[in-house]
Amino acid sequence: MSKEKGNLSIHSENIFPIIKKWLYSDHDIFIRELISNACDAITKLKRLNSLGEADLDGKTDFQVKVILDKTARTLKFIDNGIGMTEEEVKKYINQIAFSGAEDFLKTYKDKGDADQIIGHFGLGFYSAFMVADIVEIDTLSYKNEAGAVKWCCDGGIEFEMEDSNRRERGTEITLHLGQQGETFLNEYTVKSTIEKYCSFMPYPIYFDIADKEPEKDGEGNIIITEPKALNDTLPLYTKQPNSCTDEEYKEFYQKTFKDFREPLFWIHLNMDYPFNLKGILYFPKLNTQFDTMEGQIKLYNSQVFVADNIKEAIPEFLLLLKGIIDCPDLPLNVSRSFLQNDGFVRKISDYITKKVADKLNSLFKSERENFQKFWDDISPFVKYGLIKDNKFYEKIESIILYKTTQQQYVTLEEYFEKHDGKLNKEVYYVTDTVQQAQYIQMMQAHGIEAVVLDHGIDSAFISHLEMKKNDISFKRVDSNISEVIKDMDEAPDEETATKERDILTKVFKNALNKEDCQIQLESLKSEDVAGMIILSEESRRMQEMMKMYS
Ligand code: ADP
Ligand code: MG
Repeated sequence: MSKEKGNLSIHSENIFPIIKKWLYSDHDIFIRELISNACDAITKLKRLNSLGEADLDGKTDFQVKVILDKTARTLKFIDNGIGMTEEEVKKYINQIAFSGAEDFLKTYKDKGDADQIIGHFGLGFYSAFMVADIVEIDTLSYKNEAGAVKWCCDGGIEFEMEDSNRRERGTEITLHLGQQGETFLNEYTVKSTIEKYCSFMPYPIYFDIADKEPEKDGEGNIIITEPKALNDTLPLYTKQPNSCTDEEYKEFYQKTFKDFREPLFWIHLNMDYPFNLKGILYFPKLNTQFDTMEGQIKLYNSQVFVADNIKEAIPEFLLLLKGIIDCPDLPLNVSRSFLQNDGFVRKISDYITKKVADKLNSLFKSERENFQKFWDDISPFVKYGLIKDNKFYEKIESIILYKTTQQQYVTLEEYFEKHDGKLNKEVYYVTDTVQQAQYIQMMQAHGIEAVVLDHGIDSAFISHLEMKKNDISFKRVDSNISEVIKDMDEAPDEETATKERDILTKVFKNALNKEDCQIQLESLKSEDVAGMIILSEESRRMQEMMKMYS
């Protein structure tokens, strides 16, 4: 056969079911897609207006309305944006995967600063068919000469188009909900889905129920309530950090995360170059009941919610924090979920990690007292982070605090300084201040303070630290008899020692009914201590490890 070249052809009757059923993992995202389109339509119109290409006659009450009609089983999305002409419906709607958003961006690419347009792949609109049997469009373009158009499609491959008598500029999309969309006949489902995806979309979104019974007061008078937008069109994170107050940060935290405790502190991220990223990271209080930080990082793309806690985009340890990250440059795939570009994601991670480390360092340097106050709450996060991320480790390694049994917070350097050469790079620690109280006292009597390492993460943390700095070692107070409390001058001679050791070994083996116990004979400086039970650090840690894996 001679060589041939050509174009692949796609049959919409084959591709359509795929789009409808398989493209999106969650049914509810049609709400996000249709409201995004409505917002895009408004953004485009605003843009044209600012370029002098559209005359709005001063009418700029831009908004999106969502109306549920339970009787008619319809859900409507109405905007007063740019609208579509007949040609545009043919071009952007009838041609699947032809994105009007991309087209618009290309046309106006070089003309002024663009507000973010959300659309991208030219597929979002069709997500409506995941829940609707029939979808109608009624639209009037801002172009005066264009007539209004109606479009209707039942999810097959045919559509109908005709003139419409619509008068208002903008677009009304009507979904006739089918069985698949049954749950969206419930107003709370619709409302909470809008709140989930659209909380920060840039134009006010109003939700209403068609033919709603008016609300009445006790005397039967109709109560008129001002409609209230479901979203916050100018979320705090989009503002300049120096124009935000502490009160605003706290309020935003409580509203966004429904957490009525106060956050400890926060970091406002605001970056334009080399990529665009805005957001706020909050350090939450430790959940004292479980000793855990409960994180939640909400990822946004141009004020449109993408997902919570995406491991691929955010360093794992940061997921212990609470925050919003909005990155318009985020490489999303068609379903706006999984990310495709590792290199880019790594850059984002590095940037955020650096910001967090900088904040911790500045707290340590200029607000040491506060830093100490926060330490108990943030230390699991910091320790987890330095184990998981070496760059983070390097940046904060020197400011890690240790709480001593005297309730002081010291760095490792300060700990050794405090002991003034007494300790040979050994850090004495306790895991339970009550159980190990006697050991603590004995060490204290000889001028040694132990540090408290009682969190679940600590055992992994100290092992990590020992590996990184191979000259220091952590020893639990009951793991050996420190040189500091031994009395070298009073040591018994070899013969006496062997004798006594043999006798004591027998006594203990009998009493404990255990073969593997060893007696070590030492003279101690403490007169009120006759003997100590010790368990070597290595074997205890080994046992702990085994327990963890069993
Ligand atoms: P995308 O948003 O990725 O471009 P969609 O499938 O969501 O793709 O929408 C296709 C196109 O249809 C849009 O780019 C836009 O040109 C047009 N469109 C959809 N909804 C509206 C609307 N409410 N107002 C005006 N145009 C719209
Ligand atoms: Mg879209």
